[in-house]
Amino acid sequence: MNNNEIESIRQAIRDVPNFPKPGILFKDIMPLLGNGPLFAKTINILADRYRDQRIDTVLGIESRGFIVGAALAYTLNAGFSAVRKPGKLPYDTHSASYDLEYGTDSLEIHTDAIRPKARVVIADDLIATGGTAAATAELVSRLGAKVVECAFVIELSFLKGRDKLRPYDVFSILQYYDE
Ligand code: AMP
Repeated sequence: MNNNEIESIRQAIRDVPNFPKPGILFKDIMPLLGNGPLFAKTINILADRYRDQRIDTVLGIESRGFIVGAALAYTLNAGFSAVRKPGKLPYDTHSASYDLEYGTDSLEIHTDAIRPKARVVIADDLIATGGTAAATAELVSRLGAKVVECAFVIELSFLKGRDKLRPYDVFSILQYYDE
């Protein structure tokens, strides 16, 4: 991954102030996804990283993680599974809770989504506080599978989400060090 590629990906991300609520600077990846060559470049950066890692399953986190995760799974010839908000998955599920600024939320996975000992990459568009990805990693562990790495297009480094994900490995294409 070279600096020009990273810079072109960075420039395709749109900052939307005060979405979905006042005070949040939303990193909108839709302009990136809408640009074919840049979307492919983004997925290829991730795929190059995991090509030799014998990945069985890419686990996408609802909802933008489905887009990144499914494209990555296809490229790696790996399976794709989904972690979803409560009540969305039709079959038996495990669930894990995580803290929000106010209160808690939870995520669900099908009990048969990943086989035991599978090698898994967790994918999402962005890591902020790390709570979402940490709950997802907990679900993977509960199914007896191994988190090879958590992969993101964007990392809001100043929120220190990596710390919450310890001891799992974290990779991001773009880092933002201040708001
Ligand atoms: P967190 O659990 O705090 O790491 O939040 C990560 C999840 O929330 C990801 O699924 C992101 O898509 C979403 N998210 C959090 N903050 C932002 C942001 N500033 N811009 C876009 N998405 C965000």
